[in-house]
Amino acid sequence: MSLPRDVLVQVDAWLAAHREEGLIGLRAFLALPSVSALSAHAGDVRRTADYLADRLRAAGLDGVALLDTAGPPAVYGEWLHAPGRPTALVYGHYDVQPADPEALWTSPPFSAVERGGRLYARGASDDKGQVWMHLLVAEAVLRAGGGLPVNLKFLIEGEEEVGSLHLPPLVEAERRRLAADVVVISDSAFYAPGVPSVACGLRGLAALEVHVQGPARDLHSGDYGGAVQNPLHALAALVAGLHTADGRVAVPGFYEDVRTLTAQERQVLARLRGDEAAHLREVGLAEGFGEPGYTALERSTVRPTVEVNGMWGGFTGEGGKTIVPAEAHAKLTCRLVPDQDPERVLDRVEADLRRRCLPGVRLRIDRSGGHPATVVPLDSPYLHAASRALRQAFSAEPVLTRMGGSIGVVPAFGRALGAPVVLMGFGLPDDRIHSPDESLDLGQYDRGQRALAAYWLELGEMGG
Ligand SMILES: [Zn+2]
Repeated sequence: MSLPRDVLVQVDAWLAAHREEGLIGLRAFLALPSVSALSAHAGDVRRTADYLADRLRAAGLDGVALLDTAGPPAVYGEWLHAPGRPTALVYGHYDVQPADPEALWTSPPFSAVERGGRLYARGASDDKGQVWMHLLVAEAVLRAGGGLPVNLKFLIEGEEEVGSLHLPPLVEAERRRLAADVVVISDSAFYAPGVPSVACGLRGLAALEVHVQGPARDLHSGDYGGAVQNPLHALAALVAGLHTADGRVAVPGFYEDVRTLTAQERQVLARLRGDEAAHLREVGLAEGFGEPGYTALERSTVRPTVEVNGMWGGFTGEGGKTIVPAEAHAKLTCRLVPDQDPERVLDRVEADLRRRCLPGVRLRIDRSGGHPATVVPLDSPYLHAASRALRQAFSAEPVLTRMGGSIGVVPAFGRALGAPVVLMGFGLPDDRIHSPDESLDLGQYDRGQRALAAYWLELGEMGG
């Protein structure tokens, strides 16, 4: 069941003929406020899963089902009529970030509007729009090509934006249903406009909260100041000691397990070095900062970090209030690289904090776990096939990238399915995902569909 090259032309024609219909369906998908972080939207999340399941059925997929988790259901569908061909699992998510602050949107976040070649709505790029592209391509190849050149499975979850807590156990439990040769994820962006990108790695994540407890209540700083430890001072000292002045993580043993980058991996990134000064200007900075001996791109993709995400405590209201606060708190996350183990990293950070904690306060540390980093070997045939498909659809030379961010479920795919992950996303850096005025470039939407059809063809030619 291979797809001859000229079938791509027919698939293109089908997509063009059904473009308006496809966009109407996408607008309806985007109109459902599937905000997983807000319990008030639980019903909307469920309705979105139902809508997607209906559309997968209508597209011609079999075995469509809502797979129950302790959280929102994951939507599953399959087409398995290409014996002897590879099986690809398409993973994505139908939940979205909150629209807050809504006042900063030019048009309402859950009413998709087209302006200047872009479709504006929450989820347009992350990730409903990209899930929709996969759905349309599967439908187009089934209708116009008479069948897919690969076996295809869809797993579209509903809690990616809140950490995919319930998905790894689902992937483990459903390992037979989800079995695949490769996992394809379109939930990322091109490195730059006009530069198609395949990501071959993601950083992992480990998280903890630090609570410093001092006196039983806030104290008068005139009566007690100078005679007791101040929890905010103690917390500030702990946080300040996490890094050396030049930007290295100072936690003993933190870099011990880090796999050394190969010369080839460094080359891949060196080729990508864009205009670092321009990147900084975009976010209002005149200079960067970080671990010596590495480029900015390496620091933000292939080197591990410890970051303070938030600190609070004491009096922060209007005017003054002369107290020694009773407690102080901080949220910390570490971005991990191969071969760091999240629990071992948390052990080391915790031991360092306990060792350095000043006298006069009590330290409580709540660990929230994490997941390891993922890399796909640079010689993976699935990566090369993705590059060929992108080159064909975008008429430009694709680049390999490493993502600094994390996708929580990816390590579970490796563990349970043993399948490499190809991160082939069609967003652009200025899509404003997670921000007001999120949008999807419709040129990316159209050409991305051609690239996905070409990718299934490439995989089909690889054989099973
Ligand atoms: Zn996403």
